[in-house]
Amino acid sequence: MPDQIGLLATNIALLRSRANRFAYVGMAIAVAAVLVATAITAYMAEGNIGFAALLAAQASSPALWLLDILPFAYAFWGQYSAVLLAREAGSLIERETEDLRARQELLEAKNIQHSAMDDLTGLAGRALFLDVTQDALETRGRSADRVGVLVVDLRDFKGINAALGLSNGDRVLRAVARRLREAAGDSARVARLGGDRFALLQAGLTSRDGLVLLAKRVERAMEAPIIVGNQTLSLSLTAGAAMTPDDGRDAEALLNCAELAMDDAKQQGTPLSFYAAMRARKAVSGGVSDELRAAIEQNQLTLYAQPIVEAESRQIRSVETLLRWEHPQRGMIMPGEFIARAERSGLIMDLTRWVLRRSLQLAKELQRVGQSLDVSINISARSMLDPHLPDMLRDLIAEIQIHPERLILEIVEDTAMSDRVSTQHVITQLAGLGVQISIDDFGTGYSQLASLQRLPVNEIKIDRSFVADLFASEADVTLMEATINMGRALGLRIVGEGVEDEQHAQRLTELGCHCLQGFHVARPMPSSELLSWMERWKLYGGASDAADEELRAV
Ligand code: C2E
Ligand code: MG
Ligand code: MG
Repeated sequence: MPDQIGLLATNIALLRSRANRFAYVGMAIAVAAVLVATAITAYMAEGNIGFAALLAAQASSPALWLLDILPFAYAFWGQYSAVLLAREAGSLIERETEDLRARQELLEAKNIQHSAMDDLTGLAGRALFLDVTQDALETRGRSADRVGVLVVDLRDFKGINAALGLSNGDRVLRAVARRLREAAGDSARVARLGGDRFALLQAGLTSRDGLVLLAKRVERAMEAPIIVGNQTLSLSLTAGAAMTPDDGRDAEALLNCAELAMDDAKQQGTPLSFYAAMRARKAVSGGVSDELRAAIEQNQLTLYAQPIVEAESRQIRSVETLLRWEHPQRGMIMPGEFIARAERSGLIMDLTRWVLRRSLQLAKELQRVGQSLDVSINISARSMLDPHLPDMLRDLIAEIQIHPERLILEIVEDTAMSDRVSTQHVITQLAGLGVQISIDDFGTGYSQLASLQRLPVNEIKIDRSFVADLFASEADVTLMEATINMGRALGLRIVGEGVEDEQHAQRLTELGCHCLQGFHVARPMPSSELLSWMERWKLYGGASDAADEELRAV
């Protein structure tokens, strides 16, 4: 748009100078005509064109007076038409600018709308819902009114999809969206978070009763059966509710709490769970680490990412997400210090859910900017025992809409190789979703590599303690070589962890490691810095020193 305005301004200047030029030429012709006419009149009257004769001609001939006015008339006309032209062009610019601005605004609005709306149901999407919730929180200001969020999920939507097919499943979702909109009326805002999960926002609440009423209206709206094709379906929902000020100070925290409550309602088999009630119950029953729970709710957790590169080409192949806790008093706390605590306090699934959601969002972001990288996610031993894990991951994949083959789940060796039938079952179910399975910290357990054949495994990550010992003795090298060869023979990808210098990187590459991870490539960084690190890594052709130099200079 600025280019077009610049062009218009240049055109106006051109028009103005053309009008001026015509006026000057007219003036010159008029002056010449006056001189010639005066000379002719003088010659005819006095017989010469001397100064006195010219003066006498001018004084005696009224026709010449008329001619004398002409140069002034031309000068005036030139200036006048230039001013008129400029004014006309000015309003033309204004009109054009307005038109262009309106067109630009329309395009921007369409763009925002397109990315913020859910194509299937026409409802707001997650991002827009968060924006609207944040607005509601901010406009509420210091008033005593509360803002509530209700998250609802269809019961057994997977069964419906499986029995009736995806297009009928879509029809069901559209019908549900319509009914939710009706139930919400003008007082609440409805969004589709993804998959079969919806959210409703209600502002101006004075107590939780308002949310209970909304949940009841939603429940009633689902009572009438839905007819799809020749099938009659009865739908039911599970709902989770959260409300300011206790359940979160910002939109993200509020929605997070409502989703946690919804998961809780599912586990409890109740139609509706309030986050505050769930929290009180868990605190009594489980000796919960309140601090860690608060960390999950109040966004004190951060996702770091560490790149993994191909050993030969040093091209970035994937990133591993690593959890950090930014404690308001104690500063950064590493996962080693709190994962075990979360496992003991029963909070681990909330944590796993948080990590999975953020990691999938990172994978989606990478996909969006055209980076085809895998994202590796650590799954704790305890989470692997939870039969809900595959469902949770399936829901998140559907919600965030990510290709499952882009995800790698890292399971530590001892857990993966344990004889527990439940763990084996969970691994098989996870692999069935299309995600890759990796055995983390390989070599720390006592399993036989060949026993990996029993599991649907794609990758092993050789523990950094073995990588560190690579130059310690010949026996270590032999062991490492044997492990790598065996892994390769089983068709597995081999990743060397804890690569701290080029010497180790070279040695692992020679021994046949496919991928490298470690401080030599990059230290874990906040996931928001990943894209700029990747730019630098590519710019310097995969030389970490150059990329680090650059990093330090920034
Ligand atoms: P891991 O999965 O084996 O992750 C690699 C760890 O090695 C990370 O430590 C990383 O910072 C560190 N590391 C990477 N390169 C080097 C290197 O060159 N030298 C050395 N000395 N260390 C290196 P971090 O982030 O402290 O994580 C420790 C462990 O905590 C992880 O080991 C993983 O088992 C667990 N963990 C991390 N994030 C999560 C998570 O989101 N969920 C679960 N369940 N566990 C996590
Ligand atoms: Mg790991
Ligand atoms: Mg590891």
